[in-house]
Amino acid sequence: MKRLVLLGGGHAHLSVLEDLALHPDEHVSVSIVTPQPQLLYTGMLPGYVAGHYSLERCSIDLVRLAGHAHASFIQASAVLVNPGVREVICTDGTVLGYDVLSINVGSQSQSGVKGVERNALLVRPLQRFVNSWMQLLAHIKNQGLSSISVAGGGAGGVELALAIAHRLRRELDSHAPHVRLITDSPVLLPSFPEGVRERILRNLRRYEIGVHAGSGVAEVGLGFLRLESGLEFESGATVWAAGVGAPAMFRESGLATDAAGFLAIDDYLQSTASPGIFAAGDCATQVNDPRPKAGVFAVRAGPVLAGNLRAALAGTPLKPFRPRRNFLTLISAGRKHAIGGYGSFGWEGGWTWGWKDRIDRRFVDRFTAT
Ligand SMILES: Cc1cc2nc3c(=O)[nH]c(=O)nc-3n(C[C@H](O)[C@H](O)[C@H](O)COP(=O)(O)OP(=O)(O)OC[C@H]3O[C@@H](n4cnc5c(N)ncnc54)[C@H](O)[C@@H]3O)c2cc1C
Repeated sequence: MKRLVLLGGGHAHLSVLEDLALHPDEHVSVSIVTPQPQLLYTGMLPGYVAGHYSLERCSIDLVRLAGHAHASFIQASAVLVNPGVREVICTDGTVLGYDVLSINVGSQSQSGVKGVERNALLVRPLQRFVNSWMQLLAHIKNQGLSSISVAGGGAGGVELALAIAHRLRRELDSHAPHVRLITDSPVLLPSFPEGVRERILRNLRRYEIGVHAGSGVAEVGLGFLRLESGLEFESGATVWAAGVGAPAMFRESGLATDAAGFLAIDDYLQSTASPGIFAAGDCATQVNDPRPKAGVFAVRAGPVLAGNLRAALAGTPLKPFRPRRNFLTLISAGRKHAIGGYGSFGWEGGWTWGWKDRIDRRFVDRFTAT
């Protein structure tokens, strides 16, 4: 009996579990190790914060999917991989031997900035962020707050700032705290086309969100925020959506990584140094063709990963993963309104939000209705 171990219930592993459910292999024993029984779909997280979705609507039940795939579900985090003896060590002391290992554990919030870990609401892990957001919202409704800062000028930070501003206006009207968005890059969304960026800025103005670009944060304190320029201002709460960091486990395990500590993988999604270890999504970098850390690539890698895991177990040839460079971007803008981008084109509207809503619901339903 061959042993396949899946580390992390990420977006690529959804396809792997789906594939195992559709084509069971009685000669392979499968285990999945992940700390939460659900995967929160980040495409819908801003919609949850804005109040458009319940938490259940954005969640995919991993225990159920594992059951359909005849996989053992182990609710724990992996802390170490030992490629020499082909073992994984988990937080609960479980040691799992593997013939083929697949890693899809995502990324971590990263800052290195004073006070962030202690005083900010970190976006990752998502489950912890959701709990902190619910507590903050209850606190604001009961006791008020003068301002909220969101650090992070990427799509996640922009969507969260707009979602927070929308929710607070809807719930508190003129008593809503002021929302500001801070980024150390000279402009918001530096990798997006001008047409998308202008539309985003217009939507931020609509909610009177203060934008501070080119402003690195030096310290997050209790109730204040200090910039690298020395400027200090009051911030009742700070949401940290800046920086995507690699899990420390890879370097601690001696696995091959890129300069930032993400797993180094080849075109076949296999570790460049450890045969039998595959990876996809935010946690890995395809060294010959690096792509942004976006869920869309984790999703697209899923079917190729599923095929290559089967091939590695059977000793048959692997297939390369070659994602398209251009992809559709749909950014939610607080209310039921979204901005779309493809290549150099940008557009927006309520219909764009409806389009995004349908894509997102269909994705979650695909893994919920199985
Ligand atoms: C607010 C926000 C909005 C976003 N919107 C979009 C969007 O619209 N489109 C887009 O393309 N991208 C978006 N992103 C980026 C997207 O969230 C990530 O790129 C995506 O989640 C990466 O998927 P993944 O499968 O690699 O990892 P994840 O989705 O993070 O899944 C990792 C899984 O591994 C588990 N895990 C973590 N550590 C361990 C461990 N040590 N052992 C075992 N299991 C572990 C986790 O619990 C989780 O189940 C957004 C991000 C944010 C923050």
